[in-house]
Amino acid sequence: MKVGIPGGLLYYRYGRLWNSFLRALGAEVVESGETTRSILTSGVSKAENESCLPVKVFYGHVLALKDEVDALFVPRLVSVKKRTHTCPKMLGLPDMARAAVGDALPVISPTIDFQSGLWHNYRAVYSLGRLFSSNPMRIIGAGITAWRDHRLYLERLTLGLDHKGALKGESDRMLCEGRELRIGVIGHHYNVYDTFTTMSLLERLGSMGVDVVTADMVPEKMRDEELKRLPKDIYWSYEQEVAGAILACTRRKLVDGIIFMISFPCGPDSIVRVLCEQENKAMGNVPMLTLIMDEHTGEGGFLTRIEAFVDMLRRKKNRVEAALEKVAV
Ligand code: SF4
Repeated sequence: MKVGIPGGLLYYRYGRLWNSFLRALGAEVVESGETTRSILTSGVSKAENESCLPVKVFYGHVLALKDEVDALFVPRLVSVKKRTHTCPKMLGLPDMARAAVGDALPVISPTIDFQSGLWHNYRAVYSLGRLFSSNPMRIIGAGITAWRDHRLYLERLTLGLDHKGALKGESDRMLCEGRELRIGVIGHHYNVYDTFTTMSLLERLGSMGVDVVTADMVPEKMRDEELKRLPKDIYWSYEQEVAGAILACTRRKLVDGIIFMISFPCGPDSIVRVLCEQENKAMGNVPMLTLIMDEHTGEGGFLTRIEAFVDMLRRKKNRVEAALEKVAV
């Protein structure tokens, strides 16, 4: 069976896991690849106008696979952590995919929900495996291989590789190389690692002499400690990572500045943005630039803002260093 994995949204988190699991069970996996202008255009034309940019991009990836595969693989991730949920748009992804491709193409969509306990998820994965193999040992083996590959991918992100580098194990794609400035580029995986929608932001910053720190590179323990200081828990699984990373970067001064990547019109991010800005003002006051991306974002304006932000941080750093030298003399 040829199974298509759309290269948008949660692909940037679990693509490696899904691909590895399906291949280990003998499926021929077809990925839609990187986002392109035509993928974005077809997604925008098909998706609801009110959808956020990543959902529109996701639609485009689904449509790119429509005539290439026997089935689509779009899991429904309800919750990936106890007492949290994913955003409602992620919950509805399998239904959106079905609406995009019609009845002709089956959409395989196991439901993963950590609120329902581990056994629910094991059963969901096992039932998924049964679609491809009747051999229980093969399904378990595929699960173990996929989980190992997934952990390796996440570990590489933690060490500072970008998405492509982490997928392929290319150690020359390091985001942190001891450059002059260090900026936290924080946001959802798909808002940070999609080179088309971010206009190659991570590479551009590297060529401007800037080291990049992503949310993955901020240790999980540190993020959790910061979240515990908040008066209320954050309800959304992935927003916790984003907020935890921003708060750790600001309070502990891990970076010279922060670029918060948001897609328009993301409800959860707009709440977390206000929260992080308030906390930043109260405790760290690290310069923070919020970039809200949509399908109309032009490269010129985008680059101007990045360059101005980097210049501002560089001047600030030089000023502080000069003042410190004076004191030392
Ligand atoms: S979290 Fe925001 S950007 Fe992500 S799918 Fe939900 S609405 Fe869209």
